[in-house]
Amino acid sequence: MPQANPKLNAFPVFMRVEGEAVAIVGGGGEALAKARLLDQSSAVLRIIAETADTELLSFIAATGATHIAAPYDAAHLGGAVMVFAASGDEALDRRVAEDARRLGIPVNAVDRPELCDFFTPALVNRAPVAIAIGTEGAGPVLAQMLRNRIDRMLSPSLGPLATLAASFRGAAEKLLPKGNARRQFWGSFFQGAPARAVEAGELSQAHDAAVDLLLSKAPVAGHIALVGAGPGAEDLLTLRAHRLLMEADVIVYDALVPEAIVAMGRRDAERLPVGKRKGCHTKSQAEINALLVELGKQGKRVVRLKSGDPLVFGRAGEEMAALRDAGIAYDVVPGVTAAFAAAADFELPLTLRGVSSSMVFTTGHDLKGNSLPDWAKLAISGATVAVYMGRSVAAEVAGRLIEAGLPPDTAVAVVENASLQNRRRFHGTLADLPSLEARADLTGPVMTIIGDAVAGANFERSEPLAAHNHESAANAAAAEVEP
Ligand code: SAH
Repeated sequence: MPQANPKLNAFPVFMRVEGEAVAIVGGGGEALAKARLLDQSSAVLRIIAETADTELLSFIAATGATHIAAPYDAAHLGGAVMVFAASGDEALDRRVAEDARRLGIPVNAVDRPELCDFFTPALVNRAPVAIAIGTEGAGPVLAQMLRNRIDRMLSPSLGPLATLAASFRGAAEKLLPKGNARRQFWGSFFQGAPARAVEAGELSQAHDAAVDLLLSKAPVAGHIALVGAGPGAEDLLTLRAHRLLMEADVIVYDALVPEAIVAMGRRDAERLPVGKRKGCHTKSQAEINALLVELGKQGKRVVRLKSGDPLVFGRAGEEMAALRDAGIAYDVVPGVTAAFAAAADFELPLTLRGVSSSMVFTTGHDLKGNSLPDWAKLAISGATVAVYMGRSVAAEVAGRLIEAGLPPDTAVAVVENASLQNRRRFHGTLADLPSLEARADLTGPVMTIIGDAVAGANFERSEPLAAHNHESAANAAAAEVEP
């Protein structure tokens, strides 16, 4: 059982080091590791090493650290605010630690906790913001793991945002009464328009947005992020998508987005499914547009999650137009589109030197008319064609392409549930493609890739498309998921 209230044996503090000397004794890898860590601060490094590794020497040359190339002497520690004993030699490290103590300087001895006054943390650096992680005896692997986890959660622009915040502290304190008003200002500062402008690299816009907030000229501004959730596998989500999910007030998501990804959102976020999924009401596109506008007007931070990439067959165009018309701020976070996931599952080169140097993202649903769509010509001239939502029109696609002159033996790869554990792969030719319509056993989303480059794929893990028993084509068509 864990102790009810375990006590820390080392208490974290931040030590002022700007312009101060930090002494590191040692000339090898351990000294270099500490020097690199300390180099993230504005301390003046003093490296005491009679002989130093070439790597440490180049570090010294590159950073302008002071190098005392003499046998260690206690006098070398004079005036330092911190000492690191990192020589790798136990007797010398002990001597350094004793000297430092005598001089009243806190000391850290690498790998010798009994000689340490302090420990160095694993560090997430978004200067001026720092997150220090200490694990006491549990070791560096745990510390690094936590470090990486936290690092992923924080925007790379947190540092500049904090710097901007510092420049507004005085004004906020002068203009806003302590308490709610001030808290609200900072809440909107760190989560609203100023933060978004900094993230976009627009520092002067961020400054203006903060001034507007301060003078209460800006109503609580909502924001919609159109975010690509990727093809299904949770770890194909981008870090930015993950971060926005953790910050969202509301998550509006399509049917193809797995629950596991929606669940990565902030625990108390409102979750609104808007796509076709068993037992859920399906909203029309107009209703979805209106919902996003309404949430934006309420000042909500909304993540509009779409499968794959939001700009590929995701009707993002209509949503962006509605948001633009309503004056609601939005931005777009790309995702891994299904064609890329399917190609990866098949080790299929979408472009192949000398074979195919262009690719087409299409849906068979524009084949209904009399005239051949523009992409058919591209297919004939060698482009690799990725067909979205193509199962219920597989026969039409194959027929029209063959009619237009694409050889019936052109290679075809089909992936159901690309990127997911339950994925299924099929290979065949254009002539086999119509059989797809009759496969009632394919209940997940299906991606079809057509073209000569497909021949470069790995067919060891795929089943032939032709070998199947005919089942109801109507079933397959009904199961197809469209946005
Ligand atoms: N915006 C999405 C596409 C939405 S259209 C993207 O960029 O991927 C929906 C179609 O995408 C499905 O009918 C199917 O053809 C394809 N699709 C989506 N996820 C898929 C997956 N995991 N495996 C295969 N195809 C997928």
